[in-house]
Amino acid sequence: MELITLFGTPGPPDPTIGDKVRNAVSRTRDDLAARLRDVVAGRPEIDSDLLGDLEAVMIGADMGVRTTREILDAIRERVARDGLKDPDGLRQALRAELGRALDVEAPPLAGTEPGSPFVIFVVGVNGVGKTTTIGKLAHRFRRNGHTVMLGAADTFRAAAIEQLEIWADRTGVPVVKQRPGADPSAVVFDTVRSAAARGVDYVIVDTAGRLHTKHNLMAELEKMTRIAGREVDGAPHEVLLVLDATTGQNGLIQAREFARAAGLTGVVLTKLDGTAKGGIVTAVVRELGIPVRFVGTGETIEDLVEFSAEAFVDSLFAA
Ligand code: GDP
Ligand code: MG
Repeated sequence: MELITLFGTPGPPDPTIGDKVRNAVSRTRDDLAARLRDVVAGRPEIDSDLLGDLEAVMIGADMGVRTTREILDAIRERVARDGLKDPDGLRQALRAELGRALDVEAPPLAGTEPGSPFVIFVVGVNGVGKTTTIGKLAHRFRRNGHTVMLGAADTFRAAAIEQLEIWADRTGVPVVKQRPGADPSAVVFDTVRSAAARGVDYVIVDTAGRLHTKHNLMAELEKMTRIAGREVDGAPHEVLLVLDATTGQNGLIQAREFARAAGLTGVVLTKLDGTAKGGIVTAVVRELGIPVRFVGTGETIEDLVEFSAEAFVDSLFAA
């Protein structure tokens, strides 16, 4: 099972992506795909028993109750309307419906105005992998020949700023920071203004793992957004929610809260190497209506893979 088949083209050939990543990613596929196959195998017809088993597999793989129901409703309709009978037809129908569920528009992560930075905010609760993902993203943009500047707007803890600096060193990109406890919006202002003045291609802003229930913290995120937009047209151009795949449905609840407050445009699903429950991808896309942009598959700088819905669905149904 090639990584490239599961998650689409990971950019230019990358000799340092090792077997570890390959194995980690294929675990999701193997598990989910095998279960889907097992459910259908040897069943002579599509009956409510079979659909019930299918429902259990989908929910067990973290596809989410709502998403699973929607997909199964669509399949029941196909059974009734198209006279779908045999389990192989069911596989095809499931594939089509999953494909539809994952089909959301994902504009390129790139600016349209030369010389004006493309600004990315990275949000999410503590420990999901925001700072790590920023390091990986910076590396990816650099490798593709772009310039990058980081903003340390997680000013809540000194350690958070230091951690971002470590990643900045590793990737060879500048980081704009202030002292711990500083106003995050002031950091955003400094970073975006400095990046614009120097014609930097990408700005990536690290944010605090704010408690989304606290109104003042959400207000802060809004302020950061306002400040960025005043300096660069349309900024932030991307607001990426980082979700830890191992937290399953909890992650989905976080996602809903952030979506309400932060105008999310995409998701990065981390720690997919630590779970076989890759079905969370479907739940996130379906329920939030935003694309999964990248998948984290480990702790090193190379462990970030571009997500492709089409390749993901294909891989689930590969023979
Ligand atoms: P933050 O609090 O959201 O900034 O999270 P960090 O970036 O500090 O990451 C928290 C922990 O998750 C660290 O130990 C990271 O090494 C780890 N981590 C981040 N992404 C991944 C991933 O894709 N896979 C694995 N296995 N660990 C990850
Ligand atoms: Mg952090």
